[in-house]
Order: sequence, then C-alpha cells, then structure tokens
Amino acid sequence: MSRDPSRLADRMRAVAMSPTMKGTVEAERLRRQGVDVVDLGAGEPDFATPRHVTEAAHAAITSNFTKYTANMGIADLREAVAARYRADYGVTYAADEVIITAGGKQALMHAAFVLVEPGDEVITHAPGWPTLVEQVKLAGATPVVVRTHEEEGFALRAERLLEAVTPRTRAILINSPGNPTGALLSEADARVLASEAARRGLWVIIDLCYERLIYDHVAHNLPKIFGDVMRDRLVLAGSTSKSYAMTGWRCGWLVGPKAVVSAANALQSHSTSNVSSITQKAAVAALTGPQDCVDDMLREYHARRDQLIAWMGEEPRFRCPVPQGAFYLFPSIAAFLRPDGLRTSLAFADALLAREHVVTTPGEAFDAPGYLRLSYATSLERLREGVTRLIRFARH
Ligand code: PMP
Repeated sequence: MSRDPSRLADRMRAVAMSPTMKGTVEAERLRRQGVDVVDLGAGEPDFATPRHVTEAAHAAITSNFTKYTANMGIADLREAVAARYRADYGVTYAADEVIITAGGKQALMHAAFVLVEPGDEVITHAPGWPTLVEQVKLAGATPVVVRTHEEEGFALRAERLLEAVTPRTRAILINSPGNPTGALLSEADARVLASEAARRGLWVIIDLCYERLIYDHVAHNLPKIFGDVMRDRLVLAGSTSKSYAMTGWRCGWLVGPKAVVSAANALQSHSTSNVSSITQKAAVAALTGPQDCVDDMLREYHARRDQLIAWMGEEPRFRCPVPQGAFYLFPSIAAFLRPDGLRTSLAFADALLAREHVVTTPGEAFDAPGYLRLSYATSLERLREGVTRLIRFARH
C-alpha cells in the first residue's frame, strides 16, 4: 500500500511538544492587552549577559570574525572549556575531547544519537527536564524513568537508579543540579553509581548545565568521581546559558572520549555546523574572564530562593522542598486539587494565569503532576507580587 503523502515520518510519533507552550502563548496574549502578568515561568536568567562578554562579541564583529569556523569549535574555546574543567574539577581533557555545540541541548542530542539505538534502554529520572526523555526516544531507544521523591528533596539515589538496570540498559542519563527540582546527585551516591556503572560497562551521561548554580558550597565534583573510574564511558554536557546568562547565544559543549566527540563532530557537520563565530568569541571571554559575575548572580539567586521559600510559608499547605541548585522552586500543590474543582496541576496553572495573571509551569511538563514550577529568575518585587496572587488564588 502506498504511503499517505500527508503522513509525517514515523519517528515524529514518538516525540511530544512540551505542554508548557500553551501558558506562554496565553501570557503573551494577555500582555498585549496591557494586563500586568507576573512571569514565574522563565527557564532562563533574568540578568544581562556580563559586559566583558558582550564586548568580546562586538570585537569579533568589528574584526570580521564572522565566517565559518572549524566545525567542532575554535581551538581557543575548546581549550577554555578544558581549562575550566581542570580548574573547577581537577580533571584533564584535551581539546579534541571537547566539541562546541548549540547549547547544552545539542550536546545532549549528540550524546543520545551517538550512543544509543533501538533496543537500548536509557535510565533517567523524574520529575525531570522533558527534553532528555524525548531525545532518547528520537534516537529510537527506550527511556526508563526512575522517580525521585519530595520527602527526600527529590535527591537522586544511586540504588534506585541501579535497580532499574536490565540487560538492555546502555546508559544512565543524569541531570544535576536538576530542572525542575534543583536537586543534586550527592557525591556519595555518585561514587556508588560510578563504580557500579563501570563494573557493568554502562555509559553515564551527565547534564551539568546548572553546574555553576549550586548553593551553600555543596561539593559536587561529578566529573572527577565518575572520571576516576569510568572516564572512557563518561559524557559531560555543559553550557554558558545559565552560568553566564547567555541563553540566546546558543553555546554549549560535549566533553568525553575522543571517539564520541568525533562522531558528534560528524553529526554536527551535517546538521548545524559550527556554533556562531561571534558566540564562540563571547564564550571564550565568559570562560576565561573574571568569574565574579557568576558568584554575584548565584548570591542573588540564593537570596531570592530563601525569600521565596519564606513567602510561600505564609500558606503552609504548599510543601516546598529546598532546592540545592538551579533557580526553580517545585512546591506540591496537592492540597489544593480536588475532584470537584481544579483536578490537576495543569488546570491549576491555567486557572491561575486566567484569574490572577501569574505564569507558572505545571508539573505535567516534567512528568510530575501535582506540582508547580516557580522560576525565581525574576526580581524580588515580582516574586512578592506573584506569591501574593498565588496564595490568594489557592485560598479562593
Ligand atoms: N539541561 C537542562 C536541565 C535545562 O533546563 C536546559 C535549558 N532549559 C538545558 C539543559 C539546555 O540549555 P541550553 O541548550 O541553553 O544550554
């Protein structure tokens, strides 16, 4: 039978659009009508990109550094990434073990495409960032999702991840600090996971996109802990997006064994090619320049986190695990859901936007119904206003 010409490729059946888009579109419609919308939906820093970074980009343009670069990124930038990892974690990578990608997202997509195939299982965790699961599906493999628990602050537990291993498991895919929970994989759990993954010959892929946004100096040297026992099966994905307030510049990297990097390079050479030459120069400035901008932003997020938790405490029926990293609070709103009213967190978020004009992201977007993600990448003043409206709405 001939194929219906209007039918899309089968691989697109497996992939779902994020359910957060509806809220964003509705918020934009309200704003255009002049409504005062409080946006706690942002998945990106509200700070400006640091000045020395934007200056490096201007210099790249004026010096006409505006042509194709090496597909895998300019040597300066690959070396800058390796130098950061050496300074921050004490691990050594050569420049050809680094490829510069269009955000951490592309690095993770490369990892999925290079490492997994139909029949493989990839263990990951929820509540979690939906892209990780969708990328595994796009690569034709099967995601196996392990639940983390509110009572444990959504911490990733090595033994739970390991219980999910089957003969088909090919990789364990971890996001720490995690979106939307801000939870970490502790160093103790990382040690257990690393030695077991090494023993069983599994790959470990770590999404470190929020690695510079960890509060209270909690030790989180995952590159060293995993690298010490399984460097040849470890893939790290990082990004300038969250650390340096550079989401729009689209710069990330994949760090890992040479064979993985060169396969990713081949893949990228037939899709997006090099990351923008201007962005690459800006990223060199970000990674090698003064780092106090990162500390300043972290301090501000920390103050906002504590203040937001205090304000949410005015309504004790919200239960708020304390995030250890990133810039999201992920409270349970279970106490406010009922069969004869707002039954789901998705309905709650929609009604909150319609009635009180507050944008949040429902737990459904992260495979965790019953929760709401509140981004504190916004000013204290807007946070206060948002929480006032949220509490008024919840009590209504
Ligand atoms: N990982 C996680 C957990 C994220 O939340 C994001 C961005 N939302 C990314 C990776 C990718 O960000 P980027 O592509 O901008 O580096």
